[in-house]
Amino acid sequence: MSQVAKTGIDLNRPKIDAHAHVGVFGSWCGVAITAQEMAELMPQYGIEKSIISYPDNEVALAAQKAYPDKLAALAWLNPALGEGVAQEFEGLIDRRLVVGLKLHPLFNAYVADDECVYPLMEIAAQKDLPVFVHSGHPPFSLPWSIGQLAEKFPKTRLVMVHMGHGHGVYIQSAIETAIKRDNVWLECSGMPMHTKIREAYQRVGSERLFWGSDLPFHHYAVEILRTEVSGLSPKELDDVFHDNAKKFMGWK
Ligand SMILES: [Zn+2]
Repeated sequence: MSQVAKTGIDLNRPKIDAHAHVGVFGSWCGVAITAQEMAELMPQYGIEKSIISYPDNEVALAAQKAYPDKLAALAWLNPALGEGVAQEFEGLIDRRLVVGLKLHPLFNAYVADDECVYPLMEIAAQKDLPVFVHSGHPPFSLPWSIGQLAEKFPKTRLVMVHMGHGHGVYIQSAIETAIKRDNVWLECSGMPMHTKIREAYQRVGSERLFWGSDLPFHHYAVEILRTEVSGLSPKELDDVFHDNAKKFMGWK
C-alpha cells in the first residue's frame, strides 16, 4: 500500500537511511527501538538500508547480524578513553564487522578535533572507511571544529551528521565548511530548515548531501517530509534520499 501524505508526497521513494540507532537511549532522551521494529518499519517508508550505531557496539553488531541485508553498523568509539580504542577499531575492521566510524563528541565529551581523535582518523584513512561525526552542539561538536579535523586529515572522508543541527548559524557554518573541504559530506537529519537542504545541494555539490532519520530520536515521516518539500527536483531528491549515500558507501 502506497503511503501518500496529504501534500501528495510519496513516502515510499527509495532511500538509504544514513543515520539511525537501535537500542535504548535513557535519561533525558527517553527513546528506544529494537532491530526487529526498525527492520519492519523501514519498508513502509521505502528504506532499503540503514546505517546504525549505538554506544555499546555489541548492540549494533547484533542488530546487523540479525538483519544483514537491511542494517549496516558503524563502530561507535570514544577516543577520549585512550590507546585501546584504536585497537578496538582495528579489530572490528579486521573482522569486517563495521562499515565506518561514529564519533559523538557531545555524548562522549571531547572536542571534535582534539588530538585524541587523530589515531582513529588515520586508521579510517588507511582503510578508506568514512567517519560520521555528530555536529551542532557547543562546546564539543561545532562545525568549525569538525572543519579543522577535516583539514588536518584531508584523505579521511567525514560526514557532518545533522549538518549543524538546530541552530541557523551552525547550519550555515556546516554548509560553508563543506564548500571549503571536499572531504566533508553533509547528512540532514534533525536540521529544521528545509531551505538549507536545497542550498546545500546547490552550493556544496549534488553528491555531497544525503538523508538520514536519526531514528528513534525522530520520526521517519517528519524527516522525509522536510527533504521532500526542500524545493529539489525528483531527480535531485533521488540523489539525496538514495543515490549519494549508496555511492558514498560503495554499495552496489
Ligand atoms: Zn544520532
